[in-house]
Amino acid sequence: MTAVELSNVTYGYEGAPAVEDVSLSVEEGEFLGLVGPNGSGKTTLLKLIVGLLRPDSGTVTLFGEPAHDFSDGTRVGYVAQETTGTESGMPITVREVVSMGRYPHVGLGRFGEDDVERVEAALETVGVSHLVNRRLSTLSGGQRQRVFIARALAGDTDLLALDEPAVGIDAESREEFYELLGTLNDAGMTVLLVEHDIGVVTAFASTVACMNRRLFFHGDSLSFSESDALREAYGANQRLLDHTH
Ligand code: ADP
Repeated sequence: MTAVELSNVTYGYEGAPAVEDVSLSVEEGEFLGLVGPNGSGKTTLLKLIVGLLRPDSGTVTLFGEPAHDFSDGTRVGYVAQETTGTESGMPITVREVVSMGRYPHVGLGRFGEDDVERVEAALETVGVSHLVNRRLSTLSGGQRQRVFIARALAGDTDLLALDEPAVGIDAESREEFYELLGTLNDAGMTVLLVEHDIGVVTAFASTVACMNRRLFFHGDSLSFSESDALREAYGANQRLLDHTH
């Protein structure tokens, strides 16, 4: 089944197009790495996919429903860029953050024993059980990103959308972090990863989408390496690309 379907999607900020005529479909169980130069519209595209923005034209569907009024919010987990995550400085504990993942299921009812168990299991899966009573503001960037993933897992997420999640993570923990995403994907989670490190994408993702406002490529990692899409999409940024590689 198709998890995400974009059809001729265009979106601009005050008239300046950030995403132009993008059509893309992501199958359930796909691990898609989204790459492109700085300012190429990756964050905007991710926000359109999770329904935080509504396209100026074209359509976005999630599991067959329009993304902007997707009824089952718990199926989609969004982990924003570390630098833009407003929750990072909040005086709340890890347990409280991850419990929020259950709220849509609990509604106005009582937080039951199985909700508690789901929270514990999510903490365990991402390896932050020992931090459960810590305040979010005292954690490292990598620990915080894991907590946000745990919140998504606690809510029965099928699709995890992450925007440069490794930005606040030290180099040694990065590999482990991407492996965690791989493990979740192996267990059936559809993963959308915005990532500037193309090496990471070709190593961990099964498919690659490469954009610069428009979509230049969507296909498997191997044919991406062999294609000209990277050069085309990065254009004048080629020097930067050589530098990061
Ligand atoms: P990326 O994630 O690839 O760096 P973005 O989606 O963040 O790209 O940005 C795409 C373009 O849209 C950039 O030119 C950026 O300056 C512009 N942009 C992003 N967010 C806003 C905003 N809130 N208001 C105006 N312009 C924006």
